[in-house]
Amino acid sequence: MARRRQLYEGKAKILFEGPEPGTLVQYFKDDATAFNAQKKGVITGKGVLNNRISEYIMMRLGEIGVPTHFVRRLNMREQLIREVEIIPLEVVVRNVAAGQMSTRLGIAEGTQLPRSIIEYYYKNDQLGDPMVAEEHITAFGWASVQDLDDIMALALRVNDFCSGLFLGVGIRLVDFKLEFGRLWDNEEMRIVVADEISPDSCRLWDVKTNEKLDKDRFRRDLGKVEEAYQEVARRLGILPEAGVRDLKGPETMQ
Ligand code: ADP
Ligand code: MG
Repeated sequence: MARRRQLYEGKAKILFEGPEPGTLVQYFKDDATAFNAQKKGVITGKGVLNNRISEYIMMRLGEIGVPTHFVRRLNMREQLIREVEIIPLEVVVRNVAAGQMSTRLGIAEGTQLPRSIIEYYYKNDQLGDPMVAEEHITAFGWASVQDLDDIMALALRVNDFCSGLFLGVGIRLVDFKLEFGRLWDNEEMRIVVADEISPDSCRLWDVKTNEKLDKDRFRRDLGKVEEAYQEVARRLGILPEAGVRDLKGPETMQ
C-alpha cells in the first residue's frame, strides 16, 4: 500500500494526488487556526466531523443542481474531490451581523441584515486575506465579470439552501465563507463550489439560545469546542456511529 503523493498542506486540510487524473484526496486535520494563523490549536475530532458535514452539505447541494467539487467520502477523514483551479477569493455571505462586519462597521453582533450581503476577500495569507471590491477582482484578473456573476448566483443559492437546511435543525446560518474553482469539461468551463462547508467556515447559532456552534468557540475561547461541532453533526443526523476519536487518523491508502 503506497502512500499517496502529498501536493499541499494547508491550515486545516491536506491535499493528496487522487486515484485518477483530475481528482484529489482531501484529508481533514484536527488543526485549528484563527486570526490569520496567529492563534493555533487542535480541536479533537474536528477533521472527522468536518469531513462528514462538508460531505453532507455538498451532496445536498448537488441534489438541487449546485455544482461542487465533491465526489465521495473515502473514510473518516478523507474525501475524493475533483481538482479545480481555485479562484483566489474567499466569498463571504452574511445574513446576520457578526465578526469583522460588526467590528468594522459598528453594527451589534446579532443584528439581522436587511438583505444577504456578499463580500470578497483576496485569499492571501501573507496579506491577511484583505477585503476587495469587484473592481479589484476583475482589474487584477482573479475572476472575470462572468465568473463573478456565476459566483454571486451560486453563493446566494448556497445561502438560501443552507439557511433552510440549518433552520430545519434549529440553527441560524449567520454567515459563511465559500471558495470556488474552475472545472473544465473538454472546452467548457464551469464554476463549482470547492473547499469545505463546515463549522470552520460557517457561523452557526442555536435559534433559541443564540449559543455559538462553530469555530468562534475556538477563536474566542468559549470552551466546549468539540461538543459544538458534534452538536451540528448530531442535529444534521450524521454523527459518526463509530465516534470521532480516531486520534491518529488512518493511513492514506491507495
Ligand atoms: P489553506 O490553509 O490554504 O486555507 P486548507 O487547509 O483549507 O488550506 O486546505 C485546502 C486547500 O485546498 C485550500 O488552499 C483550498 O483553496 C484548496 N482546495 C480546496 N478544494 C480544492 C479543489 N477541489 N481543487 C484544488 N484545490 C482545492
Ligand atoms: Mg482553508
